[in-house]
Amino acid sequence: MRLAVTDRCNLRCFYCMPEEGINYLPKNDLLTFEEILRVTTIFANQGISKIRITGGEPFLRKDMMQFLESISAIPAIKKIHITTNGTLLIDKIPKLKALGINSINLSLDSLDKKRFHEITRRDDLDKVMEAMHALIAANIQVKINMVVMDGKNTEDVITMLELAKDFPVDVRFIEEMPFNGTKGQGNPTFWSHKTILEHIKTKYADIQKLKDPAFSTSMNYQIPNFKGTFGIIAAYSRTFCGTCNRIRLTPQGTLKTCLYDNGVFNIRDLMRAGATDEDLIIALQEALNHRAKDGHEAEQNRNKNFPVSESMATIGG
Ligand code: SAM
Ligand code: SF4
Repeated sequence: MRLAVTDRCNLRCFYCMPEEGINYLPKNDLLTFEEILRVTTIFANQGISKIRITGGEPFLRKDMMQFLESISAIPAIKKIHITTNGTLLIDKIPKLKALGINSINLSLDSLDKKRFHEITRRDDLDKVMEAMHALIAANIQVKINMVVMDGKNTEDVITMLELAKDFPVDVRFIEEMPFNGTKGQGNPTFWSHKTILEHIKTKYADIQKLKDPAFSTSMNYQIPNFKGTFGIIAAYSRTFCGTCNRIRLTPQGTLKTCLYDNGVFNIRDLMRAGATDEDLIIALQEALNHRAKDGHEAEQNRNKNFPVSESMATIGG
């Protein structure tokens, strides 16, 4: 289960959010940490054992570290992962290590300062790099998420890949999805998972396919003598839907059984109307029983008044 704990962010990645004019959710509309903990505990007892905390930027949310402590104390939760832009991380790393956080996904789309700034509309590359090195030093598993976008950062694919040559990190190249808070994709020409792989092969012909972990959304590879690995996520082509077992909870409590659906029910409204634990379990089971067969069907089934146009910050990626 992916928990997007806030829709707020301190960056403005152009593929995720418009630069200005963002209507953040009123605070009362956000699930409280108590509500998120209640849902997580109930669903964990139904078999969910892996949580990913995301956002918006999760570390912007007040009392985040205390929340992580509470989540990690739920006995049935076996793995906790976090996706973050890394800018607010540095002082929290010892505590994350102590809590046993299993891995951190850092979003990083370029190692070039100018392009990082153009993409995120902020000048925080140094902070992200500092966080990456500190996580590696603390022996916390690091995955790097790079959204590959024609005309924006394709010249960085090889330099980003080579992070895995020098460091034990997993670099993941992600197809751009149309969730930038406006209608459509941000780029004129789309780089698919195939284009990304072909591009990598022009420099590294001897890549080896790794066995993908169960339920993985990434296709994973290794290059001889690299300390880390790399993966490609066909997030727009949606090649992995057959084995996807993720559910998502948005900051305002919408439960999604697919990134591309527009929500199955709102668990915040149910809880605030007095739903029992049993009611919530029934709602979850009902949602899972009617899950779309893949992301294309989920997109087609969307309420026509809500075409894909929301910001990824309100979904969590
Ligand atoms: N703020 C955190 C971060 O950036 O890592 C967590 C939230 S962010 C929405 C989660 C992930 O979604 C990030 O890795 C980001 O790159 C990815 N993402 C956001 N918008 C996207 C888009 N339009 N297409 C593909 N990936 C996207
Ligand atoms: Fe913020 Fe993450 Fe969206 Fe970038 S991708 S604007 S860091 S929520």
